[in-house]
Amino acid sequence: MFANLFSPLTLGPVTIRNRIVSSGHDTILVDAGLVNDALIAYHVARADGGVGLVVVQVADVDPEERTEGGVLQAWNERCLPGYARLADALHARGTAVFAQLHHGGRETHRRSDGTLPVTVSPSAVPNERFLAAPRALDVPRIGRIVDSYRDAAHRMRRAGLDGVEVVASHGYLPAQFLNPHTNRREDAYGGDDPRRIRFLREVLAATREGAGPALAVGLRISVDDESFDGLAPDVVLDATAALDADGLLDYLSVVSGSSSSYQGSHHIVPSMAHPPGYVAPRAAAAKARVRVPVMVAGRINQPQEAEAILVAGRADACVMTRALICDPALPGKASAGRTEDIRACIGCNQACIGHYLRGAPISCIQHPETGRELIYGSVLPATLRRRVLVVGGGPGGLKAAAVAAARGHDVVLHEAAARVGGQALHAEKVPGRAEFGGIVTNLEHEARSAGVEIRTRSVVTAATIDAERPDVVVVATGARPRRPELEVDGSLPVLDAWDVLDGVDVPSGRVVVADWRGDWIGLGTAIALAQRGRRVTLAANGPHAGQSLMQYVRDEMTAEALRRGVRIVPFLRPYGVDDETVYLQHALTSEPVLVQAVALVLATGHESVDELLRELEAREDVEVHAIGDCLSPRTAEEAVLEALQVSTTL
Ligand code: SF4
Repeated sequence: MFANLFSPLTLGPVTIRNRIVSSGHDTILVDAGLVNDALIAYHVARADGGVGLVVVQVADVDPEERTEGGVLQAWNERCLPGYARLADALHARGTAVFAQLHHGGRETHRRSDGTLPVTVSPSAVPNERFLAAPRALDVPRIGRIVDSYRDAAHRMRRAGLDGVEVVASHGYLPAQFLNPHTNRREDAYGGDDPRRIRFLREVLAATREGAGPALAVGLRISVDDESFDGLAPDVVLDATAALDADGLLDYLSVVSGSSSSYQGSHHIVPSMAHPPGYVAPRAAAAKARVRVPVMVAGRINQPQEAEAILVAGRADACVMTRALICDPALPGKASAGRTEDIRACIGCNQACIGHYLRGAPISCIQHPETGRELIYGSVLPATLRRRVLVVGGGPGGLKAAAVAAARGHDVVLHEAAARVGGQALHAEKVPGRAEFGGIVTNLEHEARSAGVEIRTRSVVTAATIDAERPDVVVVATGARPRRPELEVDGSLPVLDAWDVLDGVDVPSGRVVVADWRGDWIGLGTAIALAQRGRRVTLAANGPHAGQSLMQYVRDEMTAEALRRGVRIVPFLRPYGVDDETVYLQHALTSEPVLVQAVALVLATGHESVDELLRELEAREDVEVHAIGDCLSPRTAEEAVLEALQVSTTL
């Protein structure tokens, strides 16, 4: 099915077994800047799954930067044993391994002790996103940085890696030199395009020297920064063509976006708001100007999409990083023609890049085994086959059932509604988030494939438990919308956000959405109402709308709300309504705020559906476990993780 995807690819001196690549991505799995067991186990899972090439996350090259423990340290001699162990482990599984050599320049945020670092850049031009005000580099320091790339590449060679990749993407230091907005120099490193490219040319030459002839040397670059102060695509295409003509490259890895701005940063890890493979046309433009192979990233979630890009000649290899975070076994499933078994990434960005931005190890909301390979790397068969009854067919219940059945238990899942999915069936109705429904499709398929019997329209009571007499009950009954105490006289409609997303009638005029959690629901309901022609005030009970969301999703949804005229007001909690007024209270000053409106919509969180749980907990004749929102309303991620934790102990 995928003749191109599963053909070998030669990158200079290295040949990889197929054209599926896991690109450099921060994992927060490292210790003290060094490769450790957790990072090796993480990549081994992908190598076991059949990935052709792993490009390990960025490793800082510059000893003068004194980088933090969460970032790999290619400048540190102590990095050698960890990289060597990683290389050995992946080579034993047929996967090639490259290192990313990195200098962030001004794109460096806080230290782990909470203080701000001194950052450097070609010129003292501040950035928008991290509020960094860098020092301009002097020429001797530039020389030392160039040398540090050579030294770092040499360490990777000594560690036994197959290649090194210079990171010039996303507005990092080499891109800062290329970019006339950030490079205002008038010396040998700035003033015109040939001088602005000089730094990257020196870096690549030094890297090649350090790497030696047996290692591939690649360049990662954003063909479009998508940023107000970003690199223009023409400049990038000219630069890569010139570097290729110099013979400095064995391959080019094309991405888009820039770390420097809010607009540009969400292209670093594009969410489901972006179509699959949307960077491929830019990769094709780059490929037309170079002789070396070109890789492309950007929401390539399925082998069919990757194969189509290769067949069209837009790139030579596909970077499928989140697809592999979500399903490490994707390559093997694709090559065996088992495409229906692939757990497709839905681009939610919640547990992968979302965790990273919060400083937590990356994972996946659908596959919490990711990032936890040392604990959940393999499913151990149950020692005793037991009869497991799962109550609730949301993501948590489905995951619990799937894992328990995969371990050999006899599992029946009861769902009260006509379809499984739980709250995900509402969440997929948030504008622009239809792909979220994929979590249900994937988990239901996993459960059925593992042998779970799913009974819909099946309400479980204590009498059901008495009749079925299972060995174990897993309660995953979820949550219902929470209504805060409000002064309401019944004259103005007060609606729940889920109902609005489901399409319930809303009067014409101004509608207030009261948003407590600052997540997808408040912003999404406001956007949905604006799409239906309502004038919307979004009263966020916090500093800004979407405050609980990972930054890229927050910014994309906020931008969409603003484009549609939603008025966002921070620090407001709902207080009451009368016939034409919504009363709010300022969360900081306690002052009343009145809005003339025709309806109030509550996105004020949920309360647990835990009646059955409390009844069963009071009994001693049944083993009961509870997961997800019936314990405390949170998100699908926690429900699926708790499902894994419980079902691996049964
Ligand atoms: Fe994909 Fe979401 Fe999993 Fe990240 S958390 S890998 S975006 S499904």
